[in-house]
Amino acid sequence: MMGGHHAISGTAGALVLAGTTGVSLGVIDAGSGMSLASFAAMVTGAALLPDADHHNATIAHSLPKLGPLPSPSEIICRMIGKISGGHRHGTHSIIGIAAFVALAMLLGQLRYGELAIGAAIMGFVLTSFALKALKLSGPFSVLPWGLSLAVAGFVMKEFDTDPFMLPLAVGLGCAIHIVGDMATTDMCPILYPLNPKAPKGFEHIPVLGSCWDDKGSFGFPILGNAGSIREWILCLVFTGYVVLAATTEAGIFDPGAWATLPHFDEIKTGLTDPLG
Ligand SMILES: [Zn+2]
Repeated sequence: MMGGHHAISGTAGALVLAGTTGVSLGVIDAGSGMSLASFAAMVTGAALLPDADHHNATIAHSLPKLGPLPSPSEIICRMIGKISGGHRHGTHSIIGIAAFVALAMLLGQLRYGELAIGAAIMGFVLTSFALKALKLSGPFSVLPWGLSLAVAGFVMKEFDTDPFMLPLAVGLGCAIHIVGDMATTDMCPILYPLNPKAPKGFEHIPVLGSCWDDKGSFGFPILGNAGSIREWILCLVFTGYVVLAATTEAGIFDPGAWATLPHFDEIKTGLTDPLG
C-alpha cells in the first residue's frame, strides 16, 4: 500500500474503534475531543511505522533538517532498518508489532513528575510521519516541527492518565499497516524470522495459492498491486468515512438527522453485546 493510504487507513481505524458518536463502534475508550484527536494522530503515525525501515522512505524526510541539526526522522528510520533486518522484513511481522508495542510501553515509563516525556517523544515522531504521508507538511520546514511539537505537548499531559493508551495506539496502527500490505500482492512475512516457504505446487491451488508465497510471505491480495485502482477506491471510502466521523465528533454534522442511514446503533449493540 502507498504511504498516504496506510495513513488514512490508520485514521479511519482509530475513529471507527474509538469514536464516541453513532457512526463509530466505540469499543476503545480514548476520550473525546482533543484526547480522541491525539489518539487518532498516534494511530495514523503508527500505521506508517512498519515502513520506517528504510532511510530513503518518504517518512524518513518527515522532519527536515533544522539548521545544523540532523533529521531525527532519518536517523530513526536508519536505526529501525538496521535492527529489523532491512526493508519489509522484521517490521512487517508479528514480532515487529510486538517490538513496537514494547518500545511504546518502555517510552511510556519515561516521565518527569507529572509529564509523560517518553509518550511525547513518540507522539512527536508519529505525528511528523502522519503529516508527511498525508502531504500536510507543507513547503515550510518549520511546519512539521511545529505541529508535531504541539501534539507532543498535548500527549505529554493527556497520556499521563492512561498508561495503555500509547502502546494500544502503536499496536493498532502497526496492525492496520500490515493488514493493508497483506491485502496487496506485496504481502507480508508475518512469521519473520521464520519465513516458511509455501510447498512446491501450492501456487496452483485456487484462491489459497495466492495467499502464501515461496519467500514466506502471507496475505490475501484482493487489492492487487500496491497503488492499484481498487486501493485508491477503498482509500477514498476511508477518507469519506474520516470526514463523516470527524465532522460528527465535532458536532458539525448530525447523521441521526438522516433517517435513511444504516442503523449504526443496532450494529454497535450487536458487536459490543452479542447476547443482548
Ligand atoms: Zn509496508
